[in-house]
Amino acid sequence: MNLNKCERCGCFFASKNAVCPNCVSKDEHDISQLKNYLCESDSAVSIENLASGTGVSLKNVNRFLQNKDLYTTFTNLGLDSEININTIL
Ligand SMILES: [Zn+2]
Repeated sequence: MNLNKCERCGCFFASKNAVCPNCVSKDEHDISQLKNYLCESDSAVSIENLASGTGVSLKNVNRFLQNKDLYTTFTNLGLDSEININTIL
């Protein structure tokens, strides 16, 4: 059995996910907040503005953006991430 270290809270758990079962719902909550923020914004939003506007940590925002589907969704909603994405890939 392989144990993973949760990228959110640091606890160890047995799963292939990046976060532990406790943090999955927190991730989902954060992601819906980020989507709402982008939907309500009229202009392009930088990653920094997105993080400070929603209270979601920059670290978590960057982690979500490494998921290709979320990255596409967020950029379609108006996230301006072309500069930042190069620094995390
Ligand atoms: Zn966790």
